Amino acid sequence: MVPDLHDLLHSTFGFSDFRGVQRAVVDRVMAGERTLAVMPTGAGKSLCYQLPSVALEGTCVVISPLIALMHDQLRAATAVGIRAATLTSADDNRAETIERFKAGELDLLYVAPERASAGHFRELLARAKVSLFAIDEAHCVSEWGHDFRPDYRLLRPLLDSFPDVPRLALTATADAHTRDDILVQLGIPREGLIVAGFDRPNIRYAISPKANTTQQIADLLREQPGPGIVYVQSRAGTEKLAAQIAATGRPVRAYHAGLEPQIRAANQAAFVASEDMVMVATVAFGMGIDKPDVRFVAHAGLPKSVEAYYQETGRAGRDGEPAVAHMFWGADDFAKARQRLSEVDDVRLPGERARLTALGGLVETAGCRRAVLLRYFGEHPPETCGNCDNCLDAPQSVDATELARKYLSAVFRTGQMFGAGYVESVLTGQSSERSLMNGHEALSVWGIVDGEEATLLKPVGRALLLRDALRTNPHGGLEFGPGARAILKGEAEVPLIVPPRRERRKRRDAAA
Ligand code: ADP
Ligand code: ZN
Repeated sequence: MVPDLHDLLHSTFGFSDFRGVQRAVVDRVMAGERTLAVMPTGAGKSLCYQLPSVALEGTCVVISPLIALMHDQLRAATAVGIRAATLTSADDNRAETIERFKAGELDLLYVAPERASAGHFRELLARAKVSLFAIDEAHCVSEWGHDFRPDYRLLRPLLDSFPDVPRLALTATADAHTRDDILVQLGIPREGLIVAGFDRPNIRYAISPKANTTQQIADLLREQPGPGIVYVQSRAGTEKLAAQIAATGRPVRAYHAGLEPQIRAANQAAFVASEDMVMVATVAFGMGIDKPDVRFVAHAGLPKSVEAYYQETGRAGRDGEPAVAHMFWGADDFAKARQRLSEVDDVRLPGERARLTALGGLVETAGCRRAVLLRYFGEHPPETCGNCDNCLDAPQSVDATELARKYLSAVFRTGQMFGAGYVESVLTGQSSERSLMNGHEALSVWGIVDGEEATLLKPVGRALLLRDALRTNPHGGLEFGPGARAILKGEAEVPLIVPPRRERRKRRDAAA
């Protein structure tokens, strides 16, 4: 007799109810169907295969990409009394595990994809009873995913040689494209896709161009009491910013992979225990950290992707209380990201390029940030959320196409080798020894921008870099990118989002 799932949920896991889509996923698994569950971190993916592993006769084989992850899962499963084991190169009790598996004494068996796809493993499976295949971190199967693992591609023949065993693929982050690919690669029908809600309504999203990042972070910290994380791109950057914050008297620690393990552990423990500490960290910080009352997450620089942004900002406000996510980005971040694209191999290039474009869309939108985020994850959110910078204070959009053309002309006429500051000085006619020596004061673009328009030069330069109409060479000089032509020919417009009045007033006051 199949035990009542609800009773099992209570007796084995001690949970009073299913959360979100868990019930829907478990029901499909119990009915023997193939399923892809897309659930954000913390939504409770493990339960979706652990509960069936206890309810069903036989062993659930879990394919997982990281040994450390497997051992964490093993500890958690064993703690609630599930009969589980891992079969990895790091385990010296492999013979015993194989015997237990064959004897039907395991509910869960964790294996790495390279082992799962080996011929002798298939023979072993044929001699045991497999109740379910669970494929964790399933985005690894897709070349579109951010973490493609060729070994995952070898799983399909294994799965197909056990056609009657249900399969459950799980992932936290997969854009619509990657998701479709996972379905195809793992042979899961479209109706088997179950996506959990990604919205985190208590997080207020805000995204601003960098002006003076240190000052911007300091302003944010003044407005935000409580514990928070500031993500910085470089290791040296974390320590520098931490020192600056320390000087203001706020408790602060730094975290990056280059610190001694015991210092790292001590800093993390101090943060988790604190009520007002700032952690300045690289993205090495955060995975598996259990701190529900993080009140803000700031990015001092562009995150790696929309997925990374969602993941990192998602560490704020786990307790459901209001929290803030503020990103400060620079046009140079985009230039650098594009530079990295040139080093990506052909297979991954389309995916990486699409990811960067999506990130550009998120920072450049004049619309609701939450709507952009949720659409990225395949949801159909309302047009406005009322809890992001753009919804709370709508930015104005001005048509800067003409100014963008002037900007591009100046870059072209000065030989595509000067930095933004010099190009701006040519356009506004700021005479200098350099402009005299170069003979640039005789150019038709000399001094053709003034007044209100001149204040838009920096944002226009940023917009051109963002659209790949301009690129920076290794010496910081600006040169044309593939996007320049369409703008010069009048085939593409350059709308510019100018900060809302409140923000501009704040900046003016700060400057005064
Ligand atoms: P994910 O893998 O999706 O990030 P986990 O499986 O690690 O999430 O679960 C996150 C946390 O939620 C765990 O502490 C787990 O015990 C808890 N959890 C999962 N399902 C439930 C539930 N139905 N009720 C209460 N807590 C749950
Ligand atoms: Zn909004």
